[in-house]
Amino acid sequence: MENSIRNVLMMGNEAIARGLLESGCGMATSYPGTPASEILATVLRLKREAGLPLHAQWAVNEKVAFEIAYAGAMTGLRSAVSMKQVGLNVAADPLMSAAYLGVVGGFVVISADDPGPHSSQTEQDSRLMAMMAKIPVLDPDSPAQAREMTRLAFDLSESHGVPVMLRPTTRVCHARQDLPPLPLQTGVRKPVFTRDPKRWAATPKFRLALHHELEARLARISAEPLSEPRAIASGGHRAKAVVVSGVAAAHAREIFAGLSLDGPLALYQVLQPFPLHSAFIRDLLETYDEILVIEETAAVIEMQLADRRHVRGKLNGKVPAVGELLPEHIEALLCRFAGRSAPTVSLPPAPARRPTLCAGCPHRASFFAIKKAAPRAIYTSDIGCYTLGLNLGAVDTVLCMGAAISQAAGFYHAFRDASKKPDLVATMGDSTFFHAGVPALVDAVAQGVRFTLVILDNRTTAMTGGQPTPASGGDGGNAVAVEIEPLVRGCGVKFCRLADPYELPAFIALLKEALTWSREHGPAVVIARHPCLLDRRSRAPGSPRPPATVGDACDGCGFCLNHFECPALVSDADGGRVRVDPLLCTGCGVCRHVCPKGALGIAEESP
Ligand code: SF4
Ligand code: SF4
Repeated sequence: MENSIRNVLMMGNEAIARGLLESGCGMATSYPGTPASEILATVLRLKREAGLPLHAQWAVNEKVAFEIAYAGAMTGLRSAVSMKQVGLNVAADPLMSAAYLGVVGGFVVISADDPGPHSSQTEQDSRLMAMMAKIPVLDPDSPAQAREMTRLAFDLSESHGVPVMLRPTTRVCHARQDLPPLPLQTGVRKPVFTRDPKRWAATPKFRLALHHELEARLARISAEPLSEPRAIASGGHRAKAVVVSGVAAAHAREIFAGLSLDGPLALYQVLQPFPLHSAFIRDLLETYDEILVIEETAAVIEMQLADRRHVRGKLNGKVPAVGELLPEHIEALLCRFAGRSAPTVSLPPAPARRPTLCAGCPHRASFFAIKKAAPRAIYTSDIGCYTLGLNLGAVDTVLCMGAAISQAAGFYHAFRDASKKPDLVATMGDSTFFHAGVPALVDAVAQGVRFTLVILDNRTTAMTGGQPTPASGGDGGNAVAVEIEPLVRGCGVKFCRLADPYELPAFIALLKEALTWSREHGPAVVIARHPCLLDRRSRAPGSPRPPATVGDACDGCGFCLNHFECPALVSDADGGRVRVDPLLCTGCGVCRHVCPKGALGIAEESP
């Protein structure tokens, strides 16, 4: 048990992790994804530091993570699964079913949303998924409230027998707040599984009864005192009320105080956007002439205010339906609603900076090689750092996790009868291949799809902070590494070769061989293996490699800058050629093979 009374500066995700462990969580699972990744990372760290007995793991994808943690809740353990909002799409199948079956131990589904979106394919609102599943959802406004709501979610889940969703957004997950660390629960419950096939293996007939039960639970939860809305400002003449939730509540509180809006307006914070408390809906509609609803990102609260004649929000265009609601937007909305002149928002735009792969990133070498080997191919790609291959002209499509293979298959079928069939090159990271690539590859093999898959195997889940993949052996002491080559061969692929993209000429030659094979036979797989440079676990011992050099043969043609884009190569306007930034250059030496004049080398070699 911790006895510290000193506050700790906690990130929102760390506060959620502490909330889990302070509540006696016995099982926690996740698949990494920004903005949620630090939740399980913190659970794993605290487990290690405090010797906690819970089971915590990164799973192969969000569906698997959900199902593992849900089984924990079936045995009475307090359990939690965390993911980003698009990960919830992957876990939607067990989510919908688990809502019907219910839980024994408290089960918290943490789905972190990304209004903006800052690092996601969509800015979808997980609260809509909670509505569809018919489970309660809590919407925190800060790290402190996220921790408080984690405990509340366990309590609600256990008292009503349903999974409960916690929906933090990026601004909560990544904000930092000074908070007192409360004692971590050092024991977990004993698991008990009570056999009840009518419930746990319910057939459609019983599912109907379970659906009725779920509706009854929801009615009870919509009157639950623990999660009812909070009145923050009562309003002078009680004609106008503002209803807020999530981060919008934190902004609105500050703006109300700063502009003394509590005279003309009442302010309510909704903690549980679904199911919205029925008494709150009734009182709100009976008491106020006009109601302004401010919430991110969908109109979840607004939709539940059935009488919309007096309601302003996203559905009637009064509140933006797209993007983050920043403080300046909320201030303008509140001022207009209070009948005051709204401040004009004119913030200078942040300087644009094109995201790029790191200097020395092995993916850059892979993409350059792909362009050399198959210059006119259709390039399907996927979700990860390597999406940035689009800067190198080697990424044409990105849809969702695992789609690079299925989309290549779709293009193959579309062009199958065409007189000129394009080469198809799919790129996918190692973690993504485990996550959702395997079923797509099995299908491509079964359908005889003629394409080349390059698995960009950097031995980690790099984009989200370097979490382990099944190939790294997971997190536990007794974990077993699952290697990619036998898995690929087990999918039925006959051409599967491994190479280091740093060996650029040989790698280009291998890709050409794979393409030739795939045009005749079916899927060919090249595993481009080189560790991520940011992954400390795979960093080679010894002194760093010397940086690249630029020789006199450089005439400043710009080919390396435009087609290879290593950030360590910079244009030297005065000298009329490129120069190497020694602070960025990792000495990988790949650029030696890129300059058509042979002007680039590494320190030991004369260019
Ligand atoms: S290093 Fe080579 S490719 Fe780059 S600008 Fe100089 S000559 Fe051109
Ligand atoms: S050696 Fe060349 S490719 Fe590698 S980091 Fe340095 S400049 Fe970039």
